[in-house]
Amino acid sequence: MPDAMKEPNMGQNQKRVAVIGAGIFGLSLAIALRKKGHIVTVFERNRYDKNKYEPEDDERVQAASVDLNKIFRASYGNKLHYQRLAMESRAAWLSLNEGLEDALFVGCGMLRVQPSDELGALERETLANMERDGFRDTQFVKSNVDDRKRATSQGWSDKLLDFDIPNSTEHRAFDAVLDSLGGLTRCSAACYQYYKMAVSAGVEFIFGSEEGAFQSFIEENSVVDASKKRVVGLKTKDGKSHKAHVVAVAAGSFSTQLLPELSYHLESAAGSLVTYKIDRNNKTLWDKYSPENFPVITWRSAPRACDGKDTGTIYVFPRTEDGIIKIGYRGVKFTNFQTAPNGVPFTQDGQWSIPLPYEDCKAVPPQAEEAIRTFVSIFLPEFDEAEFYTTKLCWYTDSLDNSFVIDYVPHYADQSVFVCTGGSGHGAKFMPVLGEHAADIFDNTDHAESHMRTHWRWREDIPRINGLEEGPDGPRNIGGGPK
Ligand SMILES: Cc1cc2nc3c(=O)[nH]c(=O)nc-3n(C[C@H](O)[C@H](O)[C@H](O)COP(=O)(O)OP(=O)(O)OC[C@H]3O[C@@H](n4cnc5c(N)ncnc54)[C@H](O)[C@@H]3O)c2cc1C
Repeated sequence: MPDAMKEPNMGQNQKRVAVIGAGIFGLSLAIALRKKGHIVTVFERNRYDKNKYEPEDDERVQAASVDLNKIFRASYGNKLHYQRLAMESRAAWLSLNEGLEDALFVGCGMLRVQPSDELGALERETLANMERDGFRDTQFVKSNVDDRKRATSQGWSDKLLDFDIPNSTEHRAFDAVLDSLGGLTRCSAACYQYYKMAVSAGVEFIFGSEEGAFQSFIEENSVVDASKKRVVGLKTKDGKSHKAHVVAVAAGSFSTQLLPELSYHLESAAGSLVTYKIDRNNKTLWDKYSPENFPVITWRSAPRACDGKDTGTIYVFPRTEDGIIKIGYRGVKFTNFQTAPNGVPFTQDGQWSIPLPYEDCKAVPPQAEEAIRTFVSIFLPEFDEAEFYTTKLCWYTDSLDNSFVIDYVPHYADQSVFVCTGGSGHGAKFMPVLGEHAADIFDNTDHAESHMRTHWRWREDIPRINGLEEGPDGPRNIGGGPK
């Protein structure tokens, strides 16, 4: 550790850490590092201290974490390690709820509607893994008589909803599995709660489009490894320098632009979100779509393609306390390929996918709208002709294999740059436990106890799959880069 940065009262293993980004990953990491005794400052370009992470408050905010709600699920196909992490997280959400007036985790259940009247292969895998870990009782398969009976006896049968397959002969209905472990997290509210918890724990925050915005690393030659630079802090856009033993990049879908070494590992891609608003006076709809009566619903609108790609997942949440029903389309995650700056180590035809500017994120592409309209006609018939209340693109930070990237960056000496990102569309649910695993990796690297260590390591040695292999010529590209 560079001793010049050591203050007389700092402990032997204590480090000064600068975390870039106050989304879910940055907040969760910052609190856990602070609990381990490190001195932590979070830099964030949005004024979350002022807007309280309210999604409607500032339309320029681009952060996946700033959102009304996210799905909580423990169903992970054959990925038992994420299933187990989700169960750990669920217990943490429930204990967090205990001290709060408004629950951050809402256990409204999640209905996994199948593409047909039979269970799909992924669903069968999920059920087998639930069985293996002793949770099969929490899952209710609509076509299974015993499960239906159990759902009735446990008060879940009203959420085991029937939806007819359009144009099917003999009025066949989609099969579905109700997951009573599933539900939603109130994402923005959880971020604000975590921000307040971080402040109480002694984490410092620097917010603002100038003073909180990362500009560049401050680098020095390393005395330990002459072949690499070591980072000794960062400069913010207001021109100020901030010393740190470690800079931790947790900037979500902007991370590659801060740290281009991530360009092989990550790709920014957009999910499409629309909302409807229910008038509180419309008691029928207000009650029907409340979390008490309506589960989160996900639907794989078509069977997986033969190459294993998900061809059309759409999901809907029960209404919020303000009457907002949110629908998300992730069948196609849209890329925005642009010419990459010089020096970016990994590009595809000289391009990389980065978030569109916020003013171009206010509408969803026609393909998404069409898929959502079909979904609505089946699952929310009352809204078939209704106008959307809002529409928006929200940016995923997809990793090459859908697992997060939480590790030191090997290109820098002295373990001076850490990354905590790569949420890949499923990070929000892990907020209460993510940081603890990440801080364990931060302190102990290969000796970490976290069972996620191998999954989250820096991994240049594995192929880019998960759609990241497509590049600018792929069908998902809505960017205007050279074709
Ligand atoms: C459409 C969509 C749906 C999703 N659905 C689910 C779901 O149902 N369930 C689930 O568990 N997960 C879901 N996720 C994933 C989850 O939302 C993300 O994994 C998580 O929010 C990522 O958090 P983050 O902190 O990495 O990134 P972000 O929330 O993007 O935060 C990064 C922060 O870094 C800041 N920043 C960027 N650049 C700079 C800079 N130069 N200087 C200072 N600060 C900077 C940004 O302002 C931002 O606040 C979804 C994601 C998307 C996009």
